Amino acid sequence: FQPNSPAARDVAYVLHPYTNFVAHEEKGPLIIDRGEGVYVYDDAGKKYIEGMAGLWSTSLGFHNDRLKQAAMKQFDILPYYHTFAHRSHLPGIDLAEKLISVAPVPMSKVFFNNSGSEANDTAIKIVWYYNNALGRHHKKKIIGRVNGYHGITLASASLTGRSMNHRGFDAPIANFIHAEEPNHYNNALEGESEEDYATRLAENLEKMIVEEGPDTVAAFWAEPVMGAGGVIVPPKTYFDKVQKVLQKYDILFVADEVICGFGRTGNYWGSQTFDMKPDILVCAKALSSSYLPISATLINEKVYEPVKNASAELGAFGHGYTYSGHPVCAAVALETLKIYDEENIIEKARDMAPVFQKQLRSFSDHPLVGEARGVGLMGAIQVMQDKASKKPFEASAGVGPMIANLATEEGVMLRAVGDSLAFCPPLIISESEIEEMFACFRRGLDRALDHLRK
Ligand code: PLP
Repeated sequence: FQPNSPAARDVAYVLHPYTNFVAHEEKGPLIIDRGEGVYVYDDAGKKYIEGMAGLWSTSLGFHNDRLKQAAMKQFDILPYYHTFAHRSHLPGIDLAEKLISVAPVPMSKVFFNNSGSEANDTAIKIVWYYNNALGRHHKKKIIGRVNGYHGITLASASLTGRSMNHRGFDAPIANFIHAEEPNHYNNALEGESEEDYATRLAENLEKMIVEEGPDTVAAFWAEPVMGAGGVIVPPKTYFDKVQKVLQKYDILFVADEVICGFGRTGNYWGSQTFDMKPDILVCAKALSSSYLPISATLINEKVYEPVKNASAELGAFGHGYTYSGHPVCAAVALETLKIYDEENIIEKARDMAPVFQKQLRSFSDHPLVGEARGVGLMGAIQVMQDKASKKPFEASAGVGPMIANLATEEGVMLRAVGDSLAFCPPLIISESEIEEMFACFRRGLDRALDHLRK
């Protein structure tokens, strides 16, 4: 690297999330300079279409003037105040009211945090607080799912079902267990229908609960569509069957809508797409189009009532962040939700979904592609060494990351989740931009095929 260049200084000073630090010292960073619509530009001026909306999150693209104005206005009025101990401010009140009004099921209260991880952490603590309040001191186990992703605080990483988030960190901590992932393509038996597979998963979940002891199991957590696990769309009837099991054993149901919330799956919430009726709902990312960090934990009245009483008995609900409901973040989130309504962003994304899904599925014929799957404006293309026998590549071959890198060279930012290439563009993407995104990807995929055949 040029001495004192941004790349050299990055390698010298920055520890990056999700990065192999040894490789980083050799490769250095890809520095992104600016954004416009669905595009970002690196510091050499190269243009990329953001096929992942950053981290599944920048729903309104990379230059929205209304969000900028909302932030500026709030900076002028009140740039910071906290919400501890009865203090409040209008942006926080307005945003909470709005979230309750759009929630997929009746919800009672909103707790604000700064990230998806924290929103899940708050939800975990509320689940425990709730059961303690009811005198159910043994009902503490929380069931996540293999390959489910819920964040990286110690508790949310424990809930996450990916070994990468556990290895080296002494996670999972006690009381977190993981049920099977609902992955029909990879895990269903030969000839097993989606419905039969869902029945089997629900039966296995029930067995797990019974073996653990139903009076020890507090909550079950699920993303409507698993995002970071590889865009795993649940098999038909899955949530219906799972929810029946949870109801039978008085287990709270938590929907992690951090990716699926705000239009991603074609409805306002993933819970609506898959008929989920959560007691607690967690959202972040597209809540502010990720322009500023803010997340929310919504709880229903059934959860709130005992929590309220316990907070009085214990003196206070001893939880909260300096930035819980930060007024500038809340103002930007509120403006984001207004834009979704006033500019029909969610309806437009739903109308664009068939175009996106058709193009995505057109890759099914490609010699490397085992499955192309998705819903709404999210999807994944899973590559296989031998698609007929569903033989995967060796993980160590790093084929997924290689394809993502080649596709990035061809002008599309993508994310490899193992050998699945994930797509989750800004909701404002147009038909021609969808075509361009997949054209860049096809060039990268074809280059990977040439490379693998050599
Ligand atoms: N939950 C889900 C479903 C996510 O996809 C993510 C992040 O990708 C998180 C939680 C964690 O959010 P954050 O990275 O904001 O902590």
